[in-house]
Amino acid sequence: MRIDLHAHSNISDGTQTPSELLAAAKAAGVDVLALTDHDSTAGWAEATAAALRHGVALVPGMEISCKTREGISVHLLSYLHNPHDAGLLEEITKSKDARLTRAERMVERLAEDYPLNWDDVTQHVAPGATVGRPHIADALVAAGVVEDRSEAFANILTSHSRYFVSHYAPDPVLAVQLVRAAGGVPVFAHPVASARGRVVADQTFHDMIDAGLLGLEIDHRDNPEEGRAFLRKLAAENDLLVTGSSDYHGAGKSNVLGENLTSPEVLARIEALGTGTAVVR
Ligand code: AMP
Ligand code: FE
Ligand code: FE
Ligand code: ZN
Repeated sequence: MRIDLHAHSNISDGTQTPSELLAAAKAAGVDVLALTDHDSTAGWAEATAAALRHGVALVPGMEISCKTREGISVHLLSYLHNPHDAGLLEEITKSKDARLTRAERMVERLAEDYPLNWDDVTQHVAPGATVGRPHIADALVAAGVVEDRSEAFANILTSHSRYFVSHYAPDPVLAVQLVRAAGGVPVFAHPVASARGRVVADQTFHDMIDAGLLGLEIDHRDNPEEGRAFLRKLAAENDLLVTGSSDYHGAGKSNVLGENLTSPEVLARIEALGTGTAVVR
């Protein structure tokens, strides 16, 4: 059983529709796929139909953007939560709205130095999708400023760039509480991905665990080897689930479906713990 619990569609910053994503999972020999778009569950319905068509099991999920008091970015995966839960919906709606204003402000700043306007960006955003820096990167590629998203992120779009603007996102402790209240299973995504920015202090892990965190995504290409030993110890000491995933974004990143996998035992525990919706199979 090949189980990949982290993938994006064009409902956020992946480049394929949910249907195309499920077809790609089938072609890659993935038996179970989680759809985890940033701050949105709008792809669940289409993904469900495609999963049934292709004979791939679907774990409905989401990746919630969070920010600590110190301003450190945290991504929290949620599996099997109730997509209609009011508390969780309110927070992700706030984030999604703030992302839009933030992207517009980044484009205003970029337009001073590059041939870019807001319309160029929206062309790369599917209707209703969660807007992010990857869409601005796509517009920079189309304008011939950079070769690909990675080059855009390497300098122009990094969090240290003068064009960077941050946006509202819930504290990770609040996000964990909201996911649990919605019947979901919260798993800390790529927790030690230091190349993306600062990594949280040990205290934040403990605060999230106290709030009800259930797992750590350890087998992810962005977690350096040193950090994984710390995570394995933390998982063992706190009886946390350990997952492995690709974080596939279609053509938007070099990550390939199934490049890291989760065990069937862990999937069974996620399925038993998640009460907000069911695995589609
Ligand atoms: P945002 O959430 O708008 O701040 O943008 C961050 C998103 O950009 C993350 O979810 C990643 O999926 C994506 N990203 C980060 N680094 C890269 C990269 N080097 N190439 C492509 N996408 C990236
Ligand atoms: Fe992404
Ligand atoms: Fe992430
Ligand atoms: Zn992701």
